[in-house]
Amino acid sequence: MKYISTRNSKETFEFKEVFIKGLADDGGLFIPQSLNKYSDTDINSFRELEYNELAKKIISTFIGDFMNENDLSKIIDKSYSVFRKKNVVNLIEVGDRSVLELFHGPTLAFKDVAMQLLGNFYEYYLNNENQKINIVVATSGDTGAAAIDAIKGKKNINIFVLHPHNRVSSVQRKLMTTGKEQNVFNIAINGNFDDCQNLVKSMFADKSFSNEIKMSGVNSINWARIIAQSVYYFYSYFLAKKKDEPVNFSVPTGNFGDVYAGYLAKKMGLPINKLIVATNQNDILHRAISKGSYEVEKVAETISPSMDIQIASNFERLIYDLNNGDDMQTINVMNDIKEKGKYIIDQQRLDRINSDFLSSKMNEDEVLKTIKEVYEKFDLVLDPHSAIGYGAFDKVNISGNNIVLATAHPCKFPDAIKNAINLKAELPKELMYILSEKENYDIIDNNVDKVKQHIKERI
Ligand SMILES: *Cc1c(COP(=O)(O)O)cnc(C)c1O
Repeated sequence: MKYISTRNSKETFEFKEVFIKGLADDGGLFIPQSLNKYSDTDINSFRELEYNELAKKIISTFIGDFMNENDLSKIIDKSYSVFRKKNVVNLIEVGDRSVLELFHGPTLAFKDVAMQLLGNFYEYYLNNENQKINIVVATSGDTGAAAIDAIKGKKNINIFVLHPHNRVSSVQRKLMTTGKEQNVFNIAINGNFDDCQNLVKSMFADKSFSNEIKMSGVNSINWARIIAQSVYYFYSYFLAKKKDEPVNFSVPTGNFGDVYAGYLAKKMGLPINKLIVATNQNDILHRAISKGSYEVEKVAETISPSMDIQIASNFERLIYDLNNGDDMQTINVMNDIKEKGKYIIDQQRLDRINSDFLSSKMNEDEVLKTIKEVYEKFDLVLDPHSAIGYGAFDKVNISGNNIVLATAHPCKFPDAIKNAINLKAELPKELMYILSEKENYDIIDNNVDKVKQHIKERI
C-alpha cells in the first residue's frame, strides 16, 4: 500500500516513512492512496478469529514491506500480552446497548491498544536502522501514559511528554510521572492541551530542530494508531447482539482519531450504519457535524479532560474525503481554519458527513447524571468519557445494534466518580503502587524556545 499526504496527492510514501514521520512535511496527514474493500465473504471469514489473529489480518494489509508476516505476528502477540484480557477488549451488554471496554491495557485507556503496538514497531525499526530518536508528544492525559508505558526502557529512544499543568487528573498524572526509566521525560506546560499540541507542532515545523534531535511523533494523527484502532471495530461487530445487522458505534471524541478508525473500518467494508461523535462541552465537532459550523472556540475544562480539545487534528482526513481527494481544496480549507478559525461546511458536504456520522454534546451535569443512572440501573461504573458515549445514543435517538466505546477505566477519574455516585473508584491491584510513588516532572511556560532548550539539555 502506498500513502499520500492530504495536502499533496501526487507524491507517494511507504508505510515506514508514514509511521516514523507521523505528519507529512507539507503539514498534511498521511492517508492510503487507495483502499482495498473487503467483500462480505472476507468479512465473514474473520468472524471466528481471536483478537490477535484479526489484528494480524487487518494490519498486515497496511504496512507494506515494513516487516514480514512472521515478525508482525510476533509483535502483535507481544504487544497484546500485557493486556488484562486475553482478547484485549471486552464487550458487555448494558440494557438496550453494548459497551465495548477498551481499557484493559497497562494505563487504563483505549490508547494502550494502539500505543503498545507502536512501541514495538519503534523497537523493530530502530534495531534495523541503528539510529537514536526522540519522541515528543502532547497529551490531554491518556496518550502520554500509554506512550510512556509503550516506550519506557526501550533502547535508542527517548520520550518527552507535554501535559497541561493541573489539567489532568491526579491518577492520569501519576501513571505518567511515577516511572523510573531513564528515557522518559515529563513536562507540565502552563497552558491547556491545545497549547501543548501547538508546541509540538511548531517543534516539528522547525526542521533544523526536529532533524537535529531526530524527532518523531506518536500523537493521534499517526496512521499506525488509526489502523490498530480499526481492529476493535471489526472485532466487536462479530460479538454484537444482533448478528448480521449493521452496527452503530458511539465514540467519545476529542481529536477525531478513534472515530476516524471506525470510519476507516466502514470504508474497508465493515457494515457500520452510523458513527456517533460524542463530545463534551468542547463541542466543535458536534457543531460541525450537526450544523456545518466548524468554528474554534475557547477550550473549557471538564471532567472528561481527554476530550478537552478544540482543534480536532484528524478531521483533516475527513475534509480530504469531502473534497473528493482534491489536495488544493483541502489546503484551502485548512488555511481558512488556520486564518479565520472557522470553516462553514456547505449543505452537500454536510449531507455526506451525515451519511456516516451523527453527533452529540453533553454538559457536565448530564455526564454526572448519566454515570449515576447507569450505576443505579445496571450496577456499572462508567468513566466520564464513556458516559458521554453512552448518553449519546439517547441524544441522537437511534436504535438497533448499538455499541458504546468505553474509552477509560473509571478509576482514572476518581473525583468525578465520587461526585456522581459517592463511590471510590479503585485502581486495579497491579497499579495501586503508583499512588504512593515519587513523581517526576518539570513545569515549563508555554514557550517553544524554553521547551526546545529543555529537551536539548536532556538528550
Ligand atoms: C483520547 C481519549 C478520547 C478521545 O479520543 P480521540 O481519538 O482523540 O477522539 C476519549 N476518551 C478517552 C478516555 C481518551 O483518552
